[in-house]
Amino acid sequence: MIKYKLVCKKCKNIFDSWFASSKEFEKLKKNFFLSCISCNSSHVDKSLMSPLVIKKSKQFSKKEEKHKNIRAKLKEYKKFIKSNFNYVGKNFAYEARTMHYDKKKPLQGIYGDASLDQIKELKEEGIETEMIPWINENEN
Ligand SMILES: [Zn+2]
Repeated sequence: MIKYKLVCKKCKNIFDSWFASSKEFEKLKKNFFLSCISCNSSHVDKSLMSPLVIKKSKQFSKKEEKHKNIRAKLKEYKKFIKSNFNYVGKNFAYEARTMHYDKKKPLQGIYGDASLDQIKELKEEGIETEMIPWINENEN
């Protein structure tokens, strides 16, 4: 399927229409089977814009949709962590060790900043951390 932007020469209306192929479009045009959706005139032609092929555009919007969903999930996740975990900032590695070695059970989990080296060290000590992408909420 191929999508063309069609232009009505009479009322200047521009509208999208689907065709099986460019050949089909030419055939319909030659036989005046094309008509404007607003004034019914058959003086309709392809606009100069390049055609969109359905496969490509669909894939693109799917990708975008997916991206949006991920962002929404991350935002939700961030909100959840913010309200259920204690922020410890740069002390993350220290606090994570305290939690791990002190057998006191903390009421809340923690979150904060850690370098990749720190995360690796923690892992070697048997302390599993989870890295999550921290999105900027001001972005869309
Ligand atoms: Zn028209």
